[in-house]
Amino acid sequence: MPKTAGPTRPTPAPHQRTGVLSSRELAARGAIPTEARLAAGPVVLVECIENIPCNPCAYACPRKAIAIAGGLTDIPQVDFAKCNGCTLCIARCPGLAIFVVHRDFSKTEATVTIPYELLPRPAAGARVACLDRAGRDVCRGKVVKVLDTKALNRCAVVTVAVPKRYWNTVRNIRVG
Ligand code: SF4
Ligand code: SF4
Repeated sequence: MPKTAGPTRPTPAPHQRTGVLSSRELAARGAIPTEARLAAGPVVLVECIENIPCNPCAYACPRKAIAIAGGLTDIPQVDFAKCNGCTLCIARCPGLAIFVVHRDFSKTEATVTIPYELLPRPAAGARVACLDRAGRDVCRGKVVKVLDTKALNRCAVVTVAVPKRYWNTVRNIRVG
């Protein structure tokens, strides 16, 4: 008897092959703000594109800028017009997937605000190594602000200034 072809497997998305999200995938999912919104001031980037059962982000934002419209496993959607870049949602995400970017922090620098659970914490003013989504060193940066209160539940929120061209590249730091 001739063999019949089995069910076709869906082609894995790039991040499912590499384990690392790319800015292209994020853009395709609508997770990157428009040029006009980036130019308008700090704004959130929710880098969460897997259908996992999770939703603290949807309750974290006082401006209701993040929504999980359907079931618990739906992907969060951001209304960039509602977000003012306050950073309140960052430490609420157990997946460390929320960032705030101020692309035009100065003429030459952007700031990236990240969740940071490691010790020691960086100090404001410290120079740190800045890493991309894959953990590779990309540049040096200067810590601008560190929020580390009990309410943040052991996840500090660190803002680092980096050369402007890395606003969509830097997503972690290495202290020391
Ligand atoms: S940065 Fe502030 S305003 Fe923007 S989504 Fe997060 S909590 Fe809401
Ligand atoms: S809290 Fe974080 S991991 Fe959970 S759905 Fe929201 S962005 Fe994704």
